[in-house]
Formats: sequence, structure tokens, C-alpha cells
Amino acid sequence: MKKVLENDLCIVDYSETLQSLAESTMELLKGKIPEYEEFFCVKLTDKIKVNYFDNLQEFRDFIHNIRNDNSLPEYATGTYDKDMINACINPEDQNRRVFTASHELFHILYKKYILEKNNFDRIVWYDEGMAQYMSGEKDKIKDEESFKQFYLKVKADTKIIPELGSLIHGKMFLNDNYNGYNLSYIAIRYLNEILNPDEFKNLMYNPETIKEYGKRIVINSFNYFDKKYCQNDQFEEEIEYLERLNYDNDYLYLKGKNKILFSAPHTMMQEREDGSIKLSEPYTKAISLFLNRHDDTYSMVKLKDTKIESNNDNYDDYNVELRRLIKENDIAIIIDLHGAAKERDFDVEFGTLDNLSTDYTTVKELEDSFRENGINNIAYNNPFKGGAITKGLFGIDNVDVIQIEINKKYRENPESLRKIISSLETFIKKYNESINKKTIRR
Ligand SMILES: [Zn+2]
Repeated sequence: MKKVLENDLCIVDYSETLQSLAESTMELLKGKIPEYEEFFCVKLTDKIKVNYFDNLQEFRDFIHNIRNDNSLPEYATGTYDKDMINACINPEDQNRRVFTASHELFHILYKKYILEKNNFDRIVWYDEGMAQYMSGEKDKIKDEESFKQFYLKVKADTKIIPELGSLIHGKMFLNDNYNGYNLSYIAIRYLNEILNPDEFKNLMYNPETIKEYGKRIVINSFNYFDKKYCQNDQFEEEIEYLERLNYDNDYLYLKGKNKILFSAPHTMMQEREDGSIKLSEPYTKAISLFLNRHDDTYSMVKLKDTKIESNNDNYDDYNVELRRLIKENDIAIIIDLHGAAKERDFDVEFGTLDNLSTDYTTVKELEDSFRENGINNIAYNNPFKGGAITKGLFGIDNVDVIQIEINKKYRENPESLRKIISSLETFIKKYNESINKKTIRR
């Protein structure tokens, strides 16, 4: 038995068992419609129509009928066809489904007034993140403390970090490795914090900017919220998290403000061309990512075995990509991080192609930085002079390259690893100061 509620803004058509939902929907939309009108700068002339069903077959017949086809996926229980909000709802769940209407209405208006009007393609994560942000469904985690708990839970549940920008609806958006809805919401919260209100709102008219953000937005928002919520004394936890961090790509590239790039090509087990196994070099990945977060340096990490050893082959993707990044971002120095076995008779070793690939003062600054942090057994170009990465990049004008080998005894416990990181942080400061002096002199 169908019933109807109507006011001057909307019409809710519903199965009798959904009376309570229909009433709260009327109440919710009374507030949301003016809010959306302001957000999209439009005046809605037609009433918003909502159709609620408590019977799945009835709902499916209704959708098939208005679409004139059978395109409705089996799992779907809500749609926004023909500017109408349509949903099949179990009466027992009706109190939890109130925000379906405002969520779907956001999609409808965004499609109609932004996408179709400007001929933009839909960017799923942005649309879903904004729908959750605007609809009111996440208002219970609006305050800082609840959001922090939500964030930490989502971060712990995210086994592989996806590149949000490339996700489409369906299985890819929601699976055992991550929840695209939660990640999209976190991404929007992040944008809302880093942008001023006008920039945040105007983003919807700039799909190119949204796409650019989408490439690394989950990593960047995790970085941002970790900095905000996690204290400094959680070094070990953070390092372990970064070392485990799994990104859905062969490489992970992160930008910084300082023109120093830390490369970590050996972060996974690799099969050599002759079939033998090259072991990974633990914590080189965590070091590179840690410095990106805390010291604003660039990071380039190889995550998956591409069957090509990047430090033997100058022309593999990793090297090609590095070259592109250096040119595009004006990188001044590449520090290529490697791990050496415990038996090696050095704490750290610098490979500079026998002093070809780096300016002497830079090497000196690096050496001093390690000594200042209590790391004194430093070797040069013996036994490692620098592999294909160093050789391949040193020819680029005005770019220094150093390969650093870090003895395993400095990577196997948090205290010694902390010293390596502090040394590199000392170097980053020194290097920035000398770059600034050089620029002033010019
Ligand atoms: Zn949605």
C-alpha cells in the first residue's frame, strides 16, 4: 500500500511500513534543500521526488520500468534515476537509512548542475566524498575527537592504499583491502582543512585539479592526519607503519618542498634475470617516507618487483620516472638509499662514482651530519661506487647524486635507525642553508 507525504519542497512516496523514514526524510530535506541550493548556486523549481519501497521486486520493477532496460545491478538498493531518489529499504533498518535521501540528492544536483552543465566527467571519489560530507550522514564524526577515532580505524583497516583517482564504482571501490567510501570522506575532510572555504567550494568547477589531487590523496591525507594526531614519541610505530605501507602501484612518488629526493629502489624481494633472489633492504622505504612526512623532501619508492633490477638497468621505468621528476620539479640532489649486510666494515658508505657525481662540499656536509649524530665509520666508494641509478642521473645538469649504503646494524632497531634519520635530517638542514646562500650570491 503506497502512501504520500508532500510539502512545497518535496514529495515522498512510500510503502506504509516506512512511515517513520518518510517523516524524517521530509524533515531532513527541509533543511538540506536550501543548503544545497546555496552550495550549487541554483534555485530548485521542481519538487524533489523520493520513492521508498519495502519490497525488492517492486523496487526493481519500478527501476526497470523507468530505465526501460535491465541495467540495475543485483546488489543495488538505491538509485537516483530521472532526478528521483529511489530506494528499497528494510523497515527494520529505516532509522539508519535517513541520510540516503540527502546523499543521493547531492549526486543528483552535482550531476545536473556541475557535470552536465560543464560537460565534466564524474570523478567518483570526489562525488562520493562530497555526498557524505554534505548529506549529514557523517555529522556524528564532525568533531575532532570522533573524526580522529574514525580516521585511525580506517587507517588500520586499509591494507592496500589505492590511487583514489583511478577507482570506479563496483568491486574496485569497496573490497577487502580498502573501503573507497571511507577513504573518499577522509580525502574530502583533508581538502577542507588545507584549502580555504572558497578554494574548497570552487574545486568542483576544476576537475583537472581534483584529478591531480586524486593521484596521491590517500597518502597525503594520511600523512596530514598522522602529523596532526600522532605524537612524536611514536617513532617506532610510525616507522613500522611506513615500512608496511602498501600502495596499489609499482612505484610511490611523493612531492616535497625541499629539492632533495630520497630514492628507495630495493624495498621488496626481487627475482634476478638468472632466477636467483635479491633480498630486500629493510627500512630504506620507511626512511624515505619518513623524511617526506617530517622534513618535506621528495620520496620515490619502488614497491613491486618489476623483474628489472633498477640499480643495474639505466632505462627501466624507475630510472625514466626519476629523470622526469628531477626535471619537472627542479630537484637538486638525489640520495639513493640502500642497505648493506652486517658483515660490511662500515656504518655507512657513500658511492659517488669516485667523486664524479657530487660536489665535494655536499659530501662533506653529509659526512659531518653523520658524525654529529655519532655515526663515524664512514667509507667512500669502496666497495660500492654507485649503481645504475647514480650513473644514470649524474649526467643531468646541476643535479647531485649519492648512493648511500646503510649497514644492517643501523636498520635493525629503532634507536640506531633513529640516528640514521637524524643524520639525514641534519644534512637536509645544512643542504638547504647552503642552497639558499648560493641563490643569494647569484
Ligand atoms: Zn553515493
